[in-house]
Amino acid sequence: MMKNLNVPPDNHVKVLGGQGWVGLIDHLGSEATTVNAARVSFGKLKEDMDDRDVTLLRYLIENKHTSPLEHIVFTFSIHCPLFVRGQWHRHRTWSYNEISRRYTEINMECYTPPKLRKQAESNRQASVADENFEDEALRGMIEQHNQASLKLYEDLLAAGVCREQARGVLPQNMMVTFWGTVDLANLLHFLELRDSEHAQWEIREYARAIKKLIKPIIPNVAKYFEDKGDNWDV
Ligand SMILES: Cc1cc2nc3c(=O)[nH]c(=O)nc-3n(C[C@H](O)[C@H](O)[C@H](O)COP(=O)(O)OP(=O)(O)OC[C@H]3O[C@@H](n4cnc5c(N)ncnc54)[C@H](O)[C@@H]3O)c2cc1C
Repeated sequence: MMKNLNVPPDNHVKVLGGQGWVGLIDHLGSEATTVNAARVSFGKLKEDMDDRDVTLLRYLIENKHTSPLEHIVFTFSIHCPLFVRGQWHRHRTWSYNEISRRYTEINMECYTPPKLRKQAESNRQASVADENFEDEALRGMIEQHNQASLKLYEDLLAAGVCREQARGVLPQNMMVTFWGTVDLANLLHFLELRDSEHAQWEIREYARAIKKLIKPIIPNVAKYFEDKGDNWDV
């Protein structure tokens, strides 16, 4: 049976006020795989983690001995605005595949931020959340623009324009769905950069959702970071 990839998988977390989501499609390996990989040089294999293994795991992370962490691999399905996808795809150590607008125009939708933030004065890359910011009318204008863009796209298709050119009128707020596969070492790097106060709120939502999804699979790794003051209960 064929499934619609625009529908979130069973194990997913909703973000951006429910408009986006990230789901865990599959994973390979466990924390035991990591410590076994670290001990390959001794020619020994264990199936369960004991306290010494947890100590070894923490030592590996602490000392950036990252190659054993590369033996755990995750595949996520991500539904996000185009501008988040642009930031995400800068992470070259992931493998990506995306639903193509050259093949389908079903389930097209655009992101309207649940709350608008103000531009930070000191830093062009930053924004400021202000509860008193009167954003309702502005959000309405964004919604209107999103709808007008989708309509123009559909009108162009109806007039016979090819999909690969018509898609040029779709806004940065358009929602896209892609698969991303990454090993744990590079995922931790992604999480450090993207669940950071320097990262844009939208992509940060996804990074925090990923922490929630993977914590049950790597509880001792999560605890290592929690002990350092990082929040994985999000
Ligand atoms: C808050 C924030 C603001 C940003 N602002 C901008 C911006 O204004 N403009 C902009 O262009 N980008 C910006 N970026 C993107 C940033 O420069 C990185 O491209 C992105 O964070 C991916 O990081 P990475 O290369 O470490 O990750 P990955 O591509 O996943 O790589 C992981 C690690 O692998 C190694 N690696 C991967 N590829 C190579 C390679 N070809 N050669 C050598 N080593 C490699 C590096 O050690 C790298 O750290 C921003 C990122 C953040 C988090």
